[in-house]
Amino acid sequence: MQKPPAKFSYSGKKDIGELIAQIGNAYAGMLNRPVAPVWSLEETKRHIAAIDFSRPIPLDQALREAENLMENGDLRSASARCFGYFNPTSAWPAVAGDILASVRNPQICVTSHAPASVTMERTISDMICRKLQMQNGTAHFTSGGSEANETALLAALCRASSDYIEHGVRAFDLPPALYVSADSHLAWIKIAKATGLGAAAVRLVPTSGDGRMDTHKLATMIADDKQSGFHPFMIAATCGTTGAGMIDPMQACLDIAMHENIHFHVDAAWAEALIFDKTRLDLLAGIEHADSVTIDAHKWLSVPMGAGIIALRDPSYAANVFSVQTSYMPEGDGHDFYITTNQWSRRFLGLRLWMMLRVVGEAGYKQMFDQHFALAKYVREHLPENGWTIRNASTLPVIVFDDDRYGLDSQTIADEVERRGQVWLGCVDFERRSVLRLCTTSFLSTQADVELLISELSAARDTLIK
Ligand SMILES: *Cc1c(COP(=O)(O)O)cnc(C)c1O
Repeated sequence: MQKPPAKFSYSGKKDIGELIAQIGNAYAGMLNRPVAPVWSLEETKRHIAAIDFSRPIPLDQALREAENLMENGDLRSASARCFGYFNPTSAWPAVAGDILASVRNPQICVTSHAPASVTMERTISDMICRKLQMQNGTAHFTSGGSEANETALLAALCRASSDYIEHGVRAFDLPPALYVSADSHLAWIKIAKATGLGAAAVRLVPTSGDGRMDTHKLATMIADDKQSGFHPFMIAATCGTTGAGMIDPMQACLDIAMHENIHFHVDAAWAEALIFDKTRLDLLAGIEHADSVTIDAHKWLSVPMGAGIIALRDPSYAANVFSVQTSYMPEGDGHDFYITTNQWSRRFLGLRLWMMLRVVGEAGYKQMFDQHFALAKYVREHLPENGWTIRNASTLPVIVFDDDRYGLDSQTIADEVERRGQVWLGCVDFERRSVLRLCTTSFLSTQADVELLISELSAARDTLIK
């Protein structure tokens, strides 16, 4: 007699509550442990190379092993003391929702297989459409801001030529061109390459000395391009640049787009979180006229990566961008995500934001924003007192600055701050200057953390001028 095949199994503690507690312990280190990686990259690679995959180990042990590698090898970017980039601390309600989505693993690409999950997700995306005054619009979750921007660009191409769907960029008699500021997020270059437009289709409009698009130059560039035989099809304004948190002149961009009758996109990946704060909507003024808007829930809305959102005012343009017919998919409702979005198999990303809005709510988000604006205000006031020169006038909690007194190089200062390990901040180019960059994006950050940041900056400078 043939023996039945062995059952799928593995060893180790299986009490899910204990395992979750073990994972949750990672939060403790985000309050006050060093932010910079403990190991050098070489040490990290050595530790990882030593792992023997031919000998499985118990689950709880493997979890500890993985955590230990990340604990010592990674930058603690979700820490209260990490002021670089727009990476948030993932809030527990969103993480709990995400674990639930992992375990239940609903396939939301077809509505009929997960009607509850799909309806929940659409409830959140519809809410976002209403906040953007896109009553007849549509929105869906994406892997992040880059995919959201790509979807906007595809919608703009379809609007510019209905033949794009069938013939791609060959549908255009003249080469298409899109306009973004030189300080925009350069995912646009990747997107132009991937969509067959080519990187040269991206026109980088110079900024006006303040990190915002120079809209006079925008108008001139469009006019020149039309003269030389190009087909302008889209203006993408950035609302909260990645480098310095600057907002392009939205009304002027909109006026030019309307005049040219071309697509007006707003990339508000980080700043658009403020649509959940009624008291700060004026900061986003103009966004309510955009043809499409990019939002990253995984930035200022404190959910885990990657969760972006694209909102489209007129769903008809992009309606056929992703449509296909197959025999192996169940008959759908015509709106199934696999034919209306870029992804096929789909994670229930909306649950992360659903959970945040159920548990934290708009009031909780407002509280977090209040805290971030207050911390940034404190830093803005105290950096000059400590001898630093602030270089941007962002209305958002992003500050770029440098050392004007001793002429120290910004990257050298950032490296020294990192070597000290306690806090972390970035270094970017802003208006032809290399500057230090900080933003507040973690809900864990407190006054004590920004005070530490300022004193660490002073200490790094003192070491360097010795
Ligand atoms: C982060 C960011 C992006 C890219 O988003 P991902 O989620 O990293 O793909 C695009 N635009 C702006 C303004 C951003 O800040």
